[in-house]
Amino acid sequence: MLTNIKDRPPKIDAKIARACHADLAQWYAANHRDLPWRRHPTPYHVTVSEFMCQQTQIATVLPYYARWMNSFPDWRALAAASDATVLKHWEGLGYYNRVRNLHRLAKLIVSEHSGNLPADSHALQQLPGIGPYTAAAIASIASGEQVAVLDGNVERVLTRLFALPWNVSLPLTKKNLRQLAAELLPKKNCGDHNQAMMELGALICSPRHPQCPRCPLTVICRGKTNPEQFPNKTKTLTVKERQTVAVITSDGKIWLLNPAERGRWHGFPRLPLFDETHMTKGAPLTVIHYSITRYRVTATAVSAKFKHHPPANGAWLPLSALKKIPLPAPHRKILRQAPLP
Ligand code: SF4
Repeated sequence: MLTNIKDRPPKIDAKIARACHADLAQWYAANHRDLPWRRHPTPYHVTVSEFMCQQTQIATVLPYYARWMNSFPDWRALAAASDATVLKHWEGLGYYNRVRNLHRLAKLIVSEHSGNLPADSHALQQLPGIGPYTAAAIASIASGEQVAVLDGNVERVLTRLFALPWNVSLPLTKKNLRQLAAELLPKKNCGDHNQAMMELGALICSPRHPQCPRCPLTVICRGKTNPEQFPNKTKTLTVKERQTVAVITSDGKIWLLNPAERGRWHGFPRLPLFDETHMTKGAPLTVIHYSITRYRVTATAVSAKFKHHPPANGAWLPLSALKKIPLPAPHRKILRQAPLP
């Protein structure tokens, strides 16, 4: 597999343009998933869906999206909510910087943009949590701007369609693919076209076992004889991490660290790690495994007691109040599995 990117983006002839416009549009109209944000593609709905769907499967997002819209139907409702309430609605979705940025964005839209999200993709990129992909998705879907999206699905479709050996981990490859995606844009209905490219990558041109005979682009596809060799990318190395988590209870209460001010669990109260200087270890309670970014974590939960006074960076909480506060999903899982008094 070649990794240099001297190759220039391929030429788009009439046959390619017809397949990528008419054939793809027809396929999308007949096969797209009926998703709630597609029924009402307002800037707010599209933005929330784009934030939620980053790094997350759509099936996982759906119940979160429904609950979110019930509680925060517009920018103003979201801007007025407390940090803890907003975090609680995101609990379990992971990648919590997304929700912090979405909340900051709502406050900014209300305070500085009269409750209206800017329509232009360049202006959108100046706002919290909105990069080139999200800006292009919102601007094309909600406002019809002629701007191409490039996410993992589109990268896969394009590299297969044109049998491009470029290493998609390189910034120059992203730039070339973005240019290619832009050249494939139709003159109108760019939001639908972008969604069709992403939907094709999600439903047909999947990472493993793409369904080429069912693909609307199969007649022009140059990579269909061996599609799984595309895209060429550098593998991300994973890091294994082991930790011991302390579950400290007393008189119907549990001791939790105060909400973190930064890092992995920013904004969340959480269980402390076991610390043998200040705690004594009791019985093992449960073991859970979870992944966060490139880390594969094995967390062993043990019951524990403080040797002296509890430190000042936490507080006792009635066990009955646990359901009402946001907690990191792995800690919620520990507390579900551990036999609490
Ligand atoms: S023909 Fe196959 S490899 Fe080519 S775009 Fe369609 S699904 Fe992907």
